[in-house]
Order: sequence, then structure tokens, then C-alpha cells
Amino acid sequence: MAAVEIMFHREATDDRWMGEAACKGLTNLFFPAPAERPQARDRREAMARSVCSSCRVNSMCQLYARDNHEYGFWGGESEDERHSAGYRLIAPIGVRARGVG
Ligand code: SF4
Repeated sequence: MAAVEIMFHREATDDRWMGEAACKGLTNLFFPAPAERPQARDRREAMARSVCSSCRVNSMCQLYARDNHEYGFWGGESEDERHSAGYRLIAPIGVRARGVG
């Protein structure tokens, strides 16, 4: 899928579920800081996973991230986990280096 097609798909997606996200205000848990080390990533993602586990829109969020090849932690799933499930990032940065998928 070309980048322009993805942008069109995003605009057409119903994203009202985002209004019920349990992660509002917690962006720092769901996206890495520059040059984040593996141990810090593990700790950050564990905290993000905990927030997702009690989020009422978890399944919609996970589908959205998979369909849109999102970066970061969405719907209880890391970039690596989405990649391993067959939902490839458009421009992977770390997954190949970590040998995932
Ligand atoms: S499932 Fe996780 S990432 Fe998705 S909206 Fe809920 S808390 Fe945020």
C-alpha cells in the first residue's frame, strides 16, 4: 500500500473510540524517547501494557494500529509484536536490528 493510500485510509477511519482511550496524557509511556535503551523500553512497555489491559477500547486500538502500521505501543501490543504478527512497519527502525520477525 502506498503512503498516499494509507493517508486516505486514515482519514476515512472511524476513530471516535480514541475518545475513550485510557492512555490520555501518557504519551511518554507509549512512544520511545530518542535513543531509548532496551532495558528502558522493556520497563516503559510493561507500564503501557498495564494501562492497555484495563482500557475498554483495547481491541479497536489494536486493529487500528495494525491496519495503519503505527509506531509505538497500541492496544497492548508493541511494534515488535505487531511486526511478528505480520503487520509490518512501513519503515522499521529497530525491529530488524533486534532480529524480530
Ligand atoms: S488500548 Fe492502550 S494504547 Fe489503545 S487507547 Fe487503550 S490505553 Fe491507549
